[in-house]
Amino acid sequence: MDGRMRAFRYSDLCGRKPIRSRLRENARQAVLFGLSLTRRMSTEREWVRFPYYHHVLDDERAGFEKQLRWMRRWGDFLSLDDALEALERPGGIGGCYFCVTFDDGFKNCATNAVPILADQQCPAAFFVPTDYVGCDLDEDWQVAQRFYGRTSGAYPLPLEFLSWGACRRMRDAGMTIGSHTCSHTRPADLDEHRLEAELRESKTRIERELGLECRYFACPWGRPGVDFGPGSLCRVVRRLGYRGTLTTARGPNYAGTDPYSIRRDHLVAGESIFPLRYFSAAA
Ligand SMILES: [Zn+2]
Repeated sequence: MDGRMRAFRYSDLCGRKPIRSRLRENARQAVLFGLSLTRRMSTEREWVRFPYYHHVLDDERAGFEKQLRWMRRWGDFLSLDDALEALERPGGIGGCYFCVTFDDGFKNCATNAVPILADQQCPAAFFVPTDYVGCDLDEDWQVAQRFYGRTSGAYPLPLEFLSWGACRRMRDAGMTIGSHTCSHTRPADLDEHRLEAELRESKTRIERELGLECRYFACPWGRPGVDFGPGSLCRVVRRLGYRGTLTTARGPNYAGTDPYSIRRDHLVAGESIFPLRYFSAAA
């Protein structure tokens, strides 16, 4: 594929989407702006919130930094290990916290997100589909196409993937690397045997490449009961020794939350602050 076609700007990515989807997105932004004015952040009850992103493209860096600064007004940042430990603490969480996460393993996580995260002292977690780590869009396009074929139009222009070397540098910067399966197949489309193979092989690969235990899994698509059967996934994940599963069900996590059913709020670094304000104020 032609390297010149790659998007590294959020505006390019949006511009490639069909007009109907852009209009829908503008309407959503307007609604979220209005709704965000009606909600107030509350820190009366202790919580851990898990914002999740896919990318910080070149023109999203300022927006991402602004969003992190806004979060910092309401709670400190925790690593994934510390966030799950806080949720299980018998005496309560001990405050309000954010644990920032990323899915899909794009190169811009290392080049754009990590420097900002390090500057803000925010130890984030990155979930990678291991088949695509180190996959070059020119030389391995047939492999990359399997990812882009499955993400049904979410990326109208392909983004470059992380390399294992970049993952090791992110680990050294205090970031967590977790599994997002091998192939990024929706777990509901796999039988239990295939699902177990995806979760075992991705865990083993990450551990071999990074020399650290891979403790966490973020489910592709991630809607409980739609993209995965909570019972069967939980069985497999526990059997393989994972310590937690992150979903895409929105909302805060309170003390005693099941570590295999962590809620997260999807955010886009290139959007305004209003979706963050709206979703972070939801009970
Ligand atoms: Zn994903």
